[in-house]
Amino acid sequence: MKSLLTALFVLIPLFLAGQPQHHSAHKISFPDVPGYRTLKVDLHMHTVFSDGSVWPDIRVEEAVRDGLDAIAVTDHLEYQPHQDDIPHPDRNRSFDIAVQTGTGLDSTLIIIRGSEITRKLPPGHANAIFLNDVNPIVQDSVVDAYREAARQGAFTFWNHPAWVGQQKDGMAHLSDLHRELIEEGLLHGIEVVNMHDYSEEALQIALDNNLTILGTSDIHGLTDWEFEHDHFGHRPITLVFATEKSAGAIHEALTAGRTAVWFRNTLIGLERYVTPLIEASLSIASATYDYERGRSVLAIEIENNSDVEYILRSESEFTFHRTADVVTIAPRAKTTLHLKTVDQLERVQLPFTVLNAVTAPQTHPRITLDVTVN
Ligand SMILES: [Zn+2]
Ligand SMILES: [Zn+2]
Repeated sequence: MKSLLTALFVLIPLFLAGQPQHHSAHKISFPDVPGYRTLKVDLHMHTVFSDGSVWPDIRVEEAVRDGLDAIAVTDHLEYQPHQDDIPHPDRNRSFDIAVQTGTGLDSTLIIIRGSEITRKLPPGHANAIFLNDVNPIVQDSVVDAYREAARQGAFTFWNHPAWVGQQKDGMAHLSDLHRELIEEGLLHGIEVVNMHDYSEEALQIALDNNLTILGTSDIHGLTDWEFEHDHFGHRPITLVFATEKSAGAIHEALTAGRTAVWFRNTLIGLERYVTPLIEASLSIASATYDYERGRSVLAIEIENNSDVEYILRSESEFTFHRTADVVTIAPRAKTTLHLKTVDQLERVQLPFTVLNAVTAPQTHPRITLDVTVN
């Protein structure tokens, strides 16, 4: 009887829930930063309306599962391998279906209308997002396609500049055509991360040309399979520091370059955006001298309010009791470090280099945790 009751208690909430419940472990989580909300967005993805393997509703459901704030549906304009099976003279169809799905789910996911302008290098592939109508982006001249996107007020970024399918050396190279597009105000961002690839050269191009730094999944199949959610994987996303959760605020933040990329447990972006995010993620939960470990061994509990497993190298004059100078701070948890402060102190500063954050090629930001002894 008891086991039957237990079974009912376990099963009833499942029935009541009706719709399949999404696994909360999937929801990507980052804290807001001073002055801005931290929005999690993925601005590059495909459906059967170009060369993807899924109907647009799956893209929306995946994004809701992952806890994203916004996605852009960006089917190829010029590459349409499923056209015979799924004719769609109106190139807005994948977006329209995605919006219907989002409305049906009653989700707060923002869905952005986009398209991938798909050409050989230069200029290669680019996403134009925040379009009003995808159809007029189909143009004979690639520059005309960019100009039509700009006329519609789009934000346009260079996709996978280091893709080995187009760059034999796997390096991003800025061409004269790219320089002209940037000069004319037609190209505003660059993917420093695309799917499984990170490009330091693309990051340098972003820094040199004041392009917005982006990371995207470019998912064609299923995100769970591609990015191994079962093994603590996550899709690459762009973190957008926006004044509010709205399409307009995302557009404004992208244009202003207020982004960071989260890719394979690494944060990539300008120091002025990455450092506040790390500082918002980490706080001191407690700091006490534990007499059993010795009079001057300070137990410092660091709380990490983000999905990042931070890898920190201590720059302190003091050493740790149980670890070397490189420590890992678990995501969404508290981690205790034991600092040997020689004397008993009331306050101590803990300077770290954040090894899994990148603010320029081979450059890692520094943070300082201010510890007040309880
Ligand atoms: Zn592409
Ligand atoms: Zn693509």
